[in-house]
Amino acid sequence: MADSPTVYIETYGCQMNVSDSELMLGRLAEYGYRAVDVPDGADVILVNTCAIRDHAEQRVLGRIGELKRHMKASTVLGVTGCMAQRLGPRLLERAKHVDLVIGPDGYRALPSLIESARNGERVAKVDFDLEEHYEDFRARRVDGVSAWIPVQRGCDYKCTYCIVPTTRGPERSRALDDVVRETRETVAEGITEITLLGQTVNSYNDGTNDFADLLQAVGSVPGLRRLRFTSPHPNDFSERVIEAMATTGAVCEHVHLPMQSGSSTTLKRMLRRYSREEYRECVARLRAAIPGLALTTDIIVGFPGETEEEFAETLEMVSEIGFDDAFTFKFSAREGTPATRLPESWTISDEVASERLARLILAVRSGTRTINLGMLGERHEVLVEKLSRRGTLLQARTRHHRTVLIPGDESMIGRYLMAELTGTTGSTFTGAVVPTRAALPMAG
Ligand code: SF4
Repeated sequence: MADSPTVYIETYGCQMNVSDSELMLGRLAEYGYRAVDVPDGADVILVNTCAIRDHAEQRVLGRIGELKRHMKASTVLGVTGCMAQRLGPRLLERAKHVDLVIGPDGYRALPSLIESARNGERVAKVDFDLEEHYEDFRARRVDGVSAWIPVQRGCDYKCTYCIVPTTRGPERSRALDDVVRETRETVAEGITEITLLGQTVNSYNDGTNDFADLLQAVGSVPGLRRLRFTSPHPNDFSERVIEAMATTGAVCEHVHLPMQSGSSTTLKRMLRRYSREEYRECVARLRAAIPGLALTTDIIVGFPGETEEEFAETLEMVSEIGFDDAFTFKFSAREGTPATRLPESWTISDEVASERLARLILAVRSGTRTINLGMLGERHEVLVEKLSRRGTLLQARTRHHRTVLIPGDESMIGRYLMAELTGTTGSTFTGAVVPTRAALPMAG
């Protein structure tokens, strides 16, 4: 093992990228590569990149420059993912020490491309492959108690701010049987919580089965206790899908439902294809079918043309819907997206956007705090994930995706426990483990 070639992967961006990195590590393991945790002296260094925001790209470019000093003369440096797809051969011109630029559909060729780089070739492989699902790859998972399973690649929506349709191509779904097979194998490895991944995951359709079929099939794999999915699109919550969520025991009572804006006119400019009323109606249908459902969201402020009145509608929706939490962003124009063609005069100054973001964050935090304070004293089943960042407590998660910090030691990682919520910082909880008559089984 000691003399097998080594590979170091650094991952940026969304869960899809984390999952892709696991696939790449799995692929390279089949070719004898050993994963290492530091770049120094690795035979292959891969930087799996994100293109969603300009500052994410700038950060990665800086990091690619820095990695030079960790490389041996023979190290192959590859840039993969969405930024690789977006910049293609331009990246090879920009960073002369980069050997490979590979888009999200090119990972099958990774071992042979590395060989080419060893022979002095510098290659950019950024063509789309609509048939590529990496079904036969065995992901090498990094996270211990929970696994991500990609079920769909690409996206057919064309939200005007988003680079994903350009970097990941059109939507295609993986065969249901294949997802079930991977779920069975993952559960057999001792993992009992799975998150199905897709850009608009609930539009999943493999030609025969829709997302409702997928939830039911995956949810009935013996031993699976928690089934999550991310990210859905509000327009793809059919009655069938909501019914499957409500009746499949493993499906957790949490939906991350990107809203992006609470204003119908802003949503129209974003080409989100739903109005404020339709979003509200989607939330109502989900809540009626799944009592106690936790809802989180994504919101962008400062989208071109956003007026103060439109922003006020977003704040109104935040307080009306009562999100459990929200990821909030300032709009950043991405080269290659339709939003860059909107009239220059619609641009919102950074000052205004920053001020709106600050107000939005306050509104979200205050909503989260109110919800969380109301939950103190409740008891919830938690899955212990890892040591908390400060290392003195354990980080555990409820089915509703709320984080609870509980006392304990590493031996409890992977266990399901009952916890009473005893305190909240506003966003996360502290909890006390409540003895149960029969110990809940371990995830492993
Ligand atoms: S639904 Fe819109 S935001 Fe989401 S990946 Fe597709 S284009 Fe991007």
